[in-house]
Amino acid sequence: MGDKFDLVIVGGGTAGWMCAAACAAKLDPARFRVRLVESEEIGTVGVGEATLPQMKDFNDFLGLDEVEFMKATQASFKLGIEFVNWGRRGDRYIHPFGTFGRPIGEADFFSYWIRAHRAGTAAPLFDYCFPIVTALQNRFMLPNGDGNDVRSAFAYAYHLDAFLYARYLRAWAEARGIERVEGRIVAVEKDGESGDIAAVTLASGAQVAGDLFVDCSGFRSLLLGTALGVELEDWSHWLPCDSAQAVPSARSDDFTPYTRSTRRKAGWQWCIPLQHRTGNGYVYSSADISDDEAAATLLANLDGEPLADPRVLRFKAGKRHQAWAKNCIAMGLAGGFLEPLESTSIYLVQMAIMHLLTLMPDGAAIDPALPAEFNRVMDVEYDRIRDFLILHYVANEADAPLWQRVTAIDLPDTLAGKIDRFRHRGHVQAYRDGLFGPPSWQAVFVGQGIVPRAADRLADALPADLLDERLAKLAATIADAAATVPSHADFIARYCPAPAP
Ligand SMILES: Cc1cc2nc3c(=O)[nH]c(=O)nc-3n(C[C@H](O)[C@H](O)[C@H](O)COP(=O)(O)OP(=O)(O)OC[C@H]3O[C@@H](n4cnc5c(N)ncnc54)[C@H](O)[C@@H]3O)c2cc1C
Repeated sequence: MGDKFDLVIVGGGTAGWMCAAACAAKLDPARFRVRLVESEEIGTVGVGEATLPQMKDFNDFLGLDEVEFMKATQASFKLGIEFVNWGRRGDRYIHPFGTFGRPIGEADFFSYWIRAHRAGTAAPLFDYCFPIVTALQNRFMLPNGDGNDVRSAFAYAYHLDAFLYARYLRAWAEARGIERVEGRIVAVEKDGESGDIAAVTLASGAQVAGDLFVDCSGFRSLLLGTALGVELEDWSHWLPCDSAQAVPSARSDDFTPYTRSTRRKAGWQWCIPLQHRTGNGYVYSSADISDDEAAATLLANLDGEPLADPRVLRFKAGKRHQAWAKNCIAMGLAGGFLEPLESTSIYLVQMAIMHLLTLMPDGAAIDPALPAEFNRVMDVEYDRIRDFLILHYVANEADAPLWQRVTAIDLPDTLAGKIDRFRHRGHVQAYRDGLFGPPSWQAVFVGQGIVPRAADRLADALPADLLDERLAKLAATIADAAATVPSHADFIARYCPAPAP
């Protein structure tokens, strides 16, 4: 292949085909040869059905047509995640993809809400958020783009069939020049001097050599973990769930534009409505419940008939010490896994792809500054998500052994300081890199029952009667606007109805 830079992607799950599609879209074929090796015999994890709004950015980056993509993946819309029985049993709240109100003068809306809440004159925080009010009525619309209208102040994500998404991206990437190599990798060859990966050997004996390898081989982490020996940084003392069982069920009438997470004795259960079925799963700590009891709990709490037997998956929370070592970069499950409570895995794949495209080496000799920066930003991404997930665990009733343990753990310093500052006057620092802006933290703090002792002093100036008037007006505007929105089911039926599978 002459002077071309040889990029080899190992694995054809969601991570592998997302990476291949991005390479097809953005790398000059005159300079790069991109191959993807996968084994049909081994297959993919195939769960991973709830996403974040950044996925729309990724699809737009590729130039995918939204309607075509949604039809091909049986997708529905997602305005946030509902948490049921988190905090206290009987409670429910939504973490939305949108903001609460707008700043008034110097202070953000949330600070004013705390003030009124402490004075006993505010409605629940969640009444001041258009996507939450809309979602709870099972309604959906696209943001209308008018900055003066509450119907513009939100983003949305998708629920999708991850297997179909990988298949869709495969066809898309292959049509744009990505070469797919079928075969089971049985050995990884390393360069004796540099320790770099030189080639992967397939069961057929064929070898695929490359300059740079992207390890998307799933939990096996064939290249980064196994061949290069980069260990997993174990975070299971903070996030003790280590198992999941997944089962599809018949679609129910309750076609929600949000994911549901219900806290249970030994973990939590997800419910993800797609067009052709509902995805369900129980994420649990195997020290706290047997597989049989977890399966029975899952099956007893479905909205529709099960369409298969539950499938067990095992994992450990954590990330590889370096996502990029030598000439190998791990993405997806090969690089780490944090339980899907906030639907962050596909987002992490997306971030790894974007950073790789930015930091792509010019030749086979890799400047150490490139992996250093890649690892720094990916560490930031993982750390922020880890802290956000732990927050859901620590603020709960200690009503079963798992919950007694997690509510008493030592927190990472980064999270402990955050909770203290929030309790003080509702402070949440915005940051440049990494997931979850202030509205996300505010929603989960308040939803889990952590409310600041006082409001930011910058929110003191507005007279109380004027504040109450503004709050009442916003809640009424949102309620009126939500009433104009079509049902999620009707919207999908008109916009992107998928063919029966
Ligand atoms: C219980 C659970 C729930 C999840 N829910 C969500 C969610 O709601 N949202 C979200 O964003 N993410 C979720 N995820 C994560 C999501 O499923 C994964 O991040 C995503 O599917 C990417 O997987 P992957 O491509 O890294 O790995 P895989 O799907 O495992 O793909 C690995 C690939 O490597 C290939 N391979 C492996 N070994 C070899 C070999 N020896 N030779 C050749 N090929 C090989 C396989 O054939 C396959 O093609 C969830 C994960 C789990 C476990």
